[in-house]
Amino acid sequence: MIPMVDLKAQYDDLREELEQGFSEVLDNAQFILGPNVQALEEEVAAYLGASHAVSCGSGTDALHLALAALGVGPGDEVITTPFTFIATAEAICYVGATPVFVDIEGDTFNIDLNQVEAAIGPKTRAIMPVHLFGQPVNMPELMELADRHGLLVVEDCAQSFGAPIDGRMTGTFGAAGAYSFFPSKNLGGYGDGGLVATNDAATAEELRVLRNHGSRERYHHNIIGYNSRLDEIQAMILRAKMRRIDRYNACRRRVAQSYREQLSGVPGVTIPHDAGYGRHVYHQYTLLVHERDRIMAALRSANIGCAVYYPVPLHRQPVFRDAYADVSLPMAEKVSEYCMSLPIYPELSDRDIHRIAETVRHAVDA
Ligand SMILES: *Cc1c(COP(=O)(O)O)cnc(C)c1O
Repeated sequence: MIPMVDLKAQYDDLREELEQGFSEVLDNAQFILGPNVQALEEEVAAYLGASHAVSCGSGTDALHLALAALGVGPGDEVITTPFTFIATAEAICYVGATPVFVDIEGDTFNIDLNQVEAAIGPKTRAIMPVHLFGQPVNMPELMELADRHGLLVVEDCAQSFGAPIDGRMTGTFGAAGAYSFFPSKNLGGYGDGGLVATNDAATAEELRVLRNHGSRERYHHNIIGYNSRLDEIQAMILRAKMRRIDRYNACRRRVAQSYREQLSGVPGVTIPHDAGYGRHVYHQYTLLVHERDRIMAALRSANIGCAVYYPVPLHRQPVFRDAYADVSLPMAEKVSEYCMSLPIYPELSDRDIHRIAETVRHAVDA
């Protein structure tokens, strides 16, 4: 069996360090927002090159709290992509704002910057790009556009931890960058977790208040906040993985390179496009294929994991489709019909990559 992600293989390498860490956290008996959380925030801020990093309960919360801290709210419109995980749009709805979906590029699957400008109107307050599957959005270009229109930018970096553009990390271009530590993400804990990076001290302070019941001082509450905090166990695990994140991402790129060598030129199969203006960290390895059902059936019967990210674009989801019935986003609709993702994780062996690629090629030939 070759799974989509293999967290056990990674744990084998981390076991000793984590067992030591677990026992230290348990001995310390300080479980929420303790010393490991503070150290993680400092280490992540330094790694990202951001002035501040504020952890929270999940990636979804990171997006939500970032919008709230920046004052995005009812009556505001936020431009985003329809080809993403639902959490991107949920966060916009949580603050009472309205998602405005702009179509994607057919090769990178990221929001099409050429179409963003036409979607900007008097209510537009922010743009929320998603660095989908680990491929950076062209942030210098997006920031130029946002600045010209006086719009906030909140980057959804749930799939792009450690992906730089010319040496500058995704998540540090906009007013805030939101990260997820869900176990399967490039930097994942063993539970839920998230983080917001920002270069603005006031935004960071607002985030710290929001994540902790609206309180600056214990049992004094200035605003209605949330309970969205990271725990010490997660922070300890994430610190151990932070020490290895560049290696993990390099291994993902190596896997992608092997797939590229073995799958390029296969008829009816389009391999991921590496746009080249940023370092793709391959959270997913996503193909466009003509015969998706047949290829996925072949993989499944060979005991190889595969999945469709994402089968339904957000404007066609039951929760949104009535409100967006007159919205047509042809590229997102088309990509969702033809996309499929292959297993990718740092520990995936050459032998397994070979077997997966061979199974895809045979399914196409059959
Ligand atoms: C995973 C993910 C999120 C949400 O993160 P959680 O930690 O699961 O809440 C948001 N946006 C994208 C693009 C994601 O992949």
